Amino acid sequence: MIYLDYHSTSPVDLRVAKKVLHYMVDDFGNASSIDHDYGDKAELAVQDATKRLSELIQASPQEIIFTSGATESINLGIQGTVKHLQKLGITPRIAISAVEHKAVFDVCYELKDHKQIELTTLPVDCRANIDLSHLENACAAGIDLLCIMAANNEVGSIYPVKKICTLAQAYNIPVLCDATQAVGKIPIHFYDFGVTMLALSAHKFYGPKGVGALVIRKDHKLEPILYGGGHQHSLRSGTLNVPGIVGLGEACRLRQLEMEVDEVAIAAKRNKLQTLLCERIPAIVVNGDVENRLAGNLHISVPGIPNSAVIARVRHKLAISTGAACSSGVETPSHVLTAMGLAEDVVEGALRISLGKFTSDEDIINAADILSTEIDAIQKLMM
Ligand code: PLP
Repeated sequence: MIYLDYHSTSPVDLRVAKKVLHYMVDDFGNASSIDHDYGDKAELAVQDATKRLSELIQASPQEIIFTSGATESINLGIQGTVKHLQKLGITPRIAISAVEHKAVFDVCYELKDHKQIELTTLPVDCRANIDLSHLENACAAGIDLLCIMAANNEVGSIYPVKKICTLAQAYNIPVLCDATQAVGKIPIHFYDFGVTMLALSAHKFYGPKGVGALVIRKDHKLEPILYGGGHQHSLRSGTLNVPGIVGLGEACRLRQLEMEVDEVAIAAKRNKLQTLLCERIPAIVVNGDVENRLAGNLHISVPGIPNSAVIARVRHKLAISTGAACSSGVETPSHVLTAMGLAEDVVEGALRISLGKFTSDEDIINAADILSTEIDAIQKLMM
């Protein structure tokens, strides 16, 4: 079985898993227990993880709130900001790009449907790029929060976060950046980019699932969405997931050391796979911005060949995806590909292939063989 679905999740690095295990079975204390060494050790481990994350994304440790993952981080960032503004008597105006993850989309539409916010959706072009002049017009018209992802989870497009934040800053607009697919893959500099809130999940960069963070600039005001023991400056109550946080920290430490070299190797393998597939499947289309995408991303379509037919034939030997993990299985076309204005048969044929640091050259050769053979077989059946 070849795993090429790293955008969905990545295997945990063994070095990370060993640390997680240690903080599950040996140093298993509650980081809020102030009366004994178990608690102190757990607290120190959380502090160390906070430092590792802050170093990777160049933020201050005081601004990091650990969560159960990017979905929760995004909900806290958006709903928390909305609640704060509503307390001031403001009905918030939020702008999002048309290719945001469902974690952003669905919370915004829920708030809009309940008349809690006014929502603007910024269009993208056929490569999923955002039109910056359109964005500027929206900023000038007045927005209270702008939500822009750092990299797209389907076609892998990388967004000019620094440029976007500079633009937003000129109008005093806070920016929530969903950096879930970008952290650990491309340089993300929280301060230098001018981001106000940044969301991430550890399992996208070889850490464990169920742990993430929201990084919040000191001067940004928001209300909690979870209430309880007042953990993490009362912004996110609940006993800290110490093993998960330790795993996140260790994954950050390793990415800081290894990201640059790993991503070059991943891009070379992705390019090789793209070349092999283009040679063997003449009808293939590569979607997204091929000049500016994540190293591990290869998003293809074979127009006229439904992706479900391909998945049905390869699913026991090759793990690839028809789209975002969270929405696979839902029979609606991808909102990202639709927003890009791609033809119906391109959308219906879309396959997301994503590579990571454990992808081998052999995996690439075998994946190209499997895909080209099965697509050829489907084409013959359809003739
Ligand atoms: N944002 C993006 C861009 C993602 O790719 C994902 C997961 O696929 C999420 C948010 C949600 O992350 P999680 O499921 O870890 O909460």
